[in-house]
Amino acid sequence: MRMVFLGPPGAGKGTQAVMLSERMGILHLSTGDILRENVKRGTEIGKKAKSYMDKGELVPDDMVIEMMLDTIKSGDKEKGFILDGFPRTLYQARKIDAELEKLGLPIDMVTYFKTSTDTVISRLTGRRLCKNCGANYHIKNMPPKKEGVCDKCGGELYRRKDDSEETIKKRLGVYNSQTEELIGYYREKDILKELSGDSDADVVYEELFVNSHFQRRG
Ligand code: ADP
Ligand code: ADP
Ligand code: ZN
Repeated sequence: MRMVFLGPPGAGKGTQAVMLSERMGILHLSTGDILRENVKRGTEIGKKAKSYMDKGELVPDDMVIEMMLDTIKSGDKEKGFILDGFPRTLYQARKIDAELEKLGLPIDMVTYFKTSTDTVISRLTGRRLCKNCGANYHIKNMPPKKEGVCDKCGGELYRRKDDSEETIKKRLGVYNSQTEELIGYYREKDILKELSGDSDADVVYEELFVNSHFQRRG
């Protein structure tokens, strides 16, 4: 199963991808996570990407396409994958579709997390991540047992720099102007499944799990 998770920042794509990828034994490939890892390690990609990410702008298309393609190629291709937060522009979508087609690994299903702006803003402002293992929390919706401390590894929780009110607004603008049009692109290909990202995480998960078992490319 090869999937794309599409939706605004804060829709819950990463949260769901972690759970579903574990259950299905497929790879979770988050473009944002891979980029942040590169920034942390100070790689060439990281150095180039950082300023865009801090401002809430998209990293240049060709850079992320190459990075994601390399990641897919170096992974266990039999297993399948979830592309989380990629593609994010029509250019990225067309390019990755063509490349995956060549590899005989076309996308089977695209899940669109339809989510209201109010939800997204409250999710992003309350989001906290573990510095150590990357686990994802929310101060109100999914709080850790002990404030500021990761349940899984005891690591310190932090707020992403781009989860500030101002950068959130910027990112939502970028989503509306560059990413939203992918909904139509994938709907036309007849592989789009829509669900409500506003729902509780377990409800979203159930829907996702059912969809991923019944939607197959014909
Ligand atoms: P969120 O889902 O909360 O918006 P991500 O972690 O997916 O955040 O992305 C963080 C940042 O990484 C984006 O604001 C952007 O700068 C960069 N990024 C992630 N995915 C892409 C992509 N497909 N194309 C270009 N830039 C990306
Ligand atoms: P995305 O990857 O789409 O940017 P995340 O998965 O990081 O979004 O989720 C954003 C924030 O919302 C996180 O703090 C997460 O804990 C929380 N969250 C995710 N899904 C839900 C949900 N269904 N209900 C409430 N909070 C959620
Ligand atoms: Zn942790």
